[in-house]
Amino acid sequence: MSEIAPYWQNYIDGKFVDGGAGRLIVEDPATGDTVAEQALADAGDVDAAVQAAKRCHESNVLTDMRPVERGRLVRQLGDYLLDNLESIAEVLCLEMGKPYWEACNEVRGAARYFEYYGNQAETLEGRSIPLGRNYFDFTVLEPYGVSAQIIPWNFPLEIASRSLAAGLATGNACVIKTPEIAPLSSGYLAKAVEAVGFSDGAANILSGYGAQAGAALASHPLINQMVFTGSVPTGVSIATAAAQNIVPCVLELGGKSAGIVYGDADLEAVVSSVRKGIFYNAGQICSALSRLIVADSIHDEVVNKISALAKDIVVAPGIEHREAGLNMGAMVSEKQRDRALAMCEDAQRQGAMVATGGHKLNRPGYFLEPTVFTNIEPDMTIAQEEVFGPVLSVMKFSNEAEAIKIANGTQYGLVGGVFTKDLDRATSTARQLRAGQIFINEWFAGGVETPFGGYGKSGYGREKGREALLNYVQTKNIAIAT
Ligand code: NAD
Repeated sequence: MSEIAPYWQNYIDGKFVDGGAGRLIVEDPATGDTVAEQALADAGDVDAAVQAAKRCHESNVLTDMRPVERGRLVRQLGDYLLDNLESIAEVLCLEMGKPYWEACNEVRGAARYFEYYGNQAETLEGRSIPLGRNYFDFTVLEPYGVSAQIIPWNFPLEIASRSLAAGLATGNACVIKTPEIAPLSSGYLAKAVEAVGFSDGAANILSGYGAQAGAALASHPLINQMVFTGSVPTGVSIATAAAQNIVPCVLELGGKSAGIVYGDADLEAVVSSVRKGIFYNAGQICSALSRLIVADSIHDEVVNKISALAKDIVVAPGIEHREAGLNMGAMVSEKQRDRALAMCEDAQRQGAMVATGGHKLNRPGYFLEPTVFTNIEPDMTIAQEEVFGPVLSVMKFSNEAEAIKIANGTQYGLVGGVFTKDLDRATSTARQLRAGQIFINEWFAGGVETPFGGYGKSGYGREKGREALLNYVQTKNIAIAT
């Protein structure tokens, strides 16, 4: 294993600097040991970063260059991550708890965003609008200016890369507030920006507490656009601050996503979707498959298969899982684990039956068993609220209308899934599901290229895909009298 630097600074205006709020100890959730210290930004650091981004934007250095050149720089950020994949994955694994092989996937996923949006930098074009013989009219797509981006801890590197890649590709100067839990891996983004040679202020990457640095960034009067991924309550604060500043906002919030399993479904596809949908990243995924709504004719068979899968999952520190396998790491913190555990206990008080799991592990670190609940009623708390842990609720249905009603019966609408061999039924169900992305016969089918974002309380705006780029540009119309 490579040696991890004991102290990580913030990156503001092209320099690595200490934080005005001191330092934070980053803990390994698999052991409770210290991984390293992270500089903590205060409101003064946030102001310095926003001012630097504003200077960069107003210098036009990002927009004067030909988009293909800007795109090449963006792509090089991804190359830097791939060149340092093993070191980054180790840091990510230790600060966040996920298996090492999953951390490697995250580094590759992060690099993929730079490839995808780097390639698109030169493809954003305006259009010409016919106005008759006396005018020539055209539109141009311009960056907003300073793009502020606030990142959660569950995929810290990948989510920061998602917004940074699209922000830079469109010519915005970016200020990223990384999560106070798991901030270290984003330090590699700062190293990448420096190595690639972006101008000072083009990308500023700092960590700090949400209520301090996060709130200072969200309400800063000089930001021009806001991108937030995280919880609903924080999303409300961010959107309120954005409204007061009159800046557009993209919100990627939580979910309570459901997969509907019809009687003719391929059960191997269901089991492998459950494996990655709720037990990958210890279930700490906004688009997790946290509810499975199963035709009553196959309910018991599905529960048996899924319980067998959950029992086979090896739960241990992420750093021990070098090769991809049937394993799971720690949850990110004691607080998150205990919150999930309390939700499991409450579910049982409300009548849920444990098919498997439901306990913490009797060892150091913040581990929760892969858990499957049955006997769930749609209005129970466990079926309505996000656990953000490895906990699946299985429900029964007797007809299609009932399945769709249960699936659509929460405040969220991030993603949804349908499992059936009947394509007509699959597409008909997909149309009726109230969610931004629907997977048919494979949870997480899709990728960087496919637009992702929520209906309802899961947020608004889209990340990923071509759609996301349009969140980072504004349209200017130019009409010429001839
Ligand atoms: P969180 O809302 O507590 O924190 C997210 C980020 O916001 C962190 O960087 C935090 O420091 C910052 N923050 C907290 N309070 C703030 C404030 N008042 N002002 C400004 N910034 C503030 O969420 P979390 O615990 O990091 O992540 C878990 C939640 O995020 C889950 O609900 C999950 O579903 C959601 N999430 C959604 C997506 C998505 O793409 N839709 C992805 C990951 C996580």
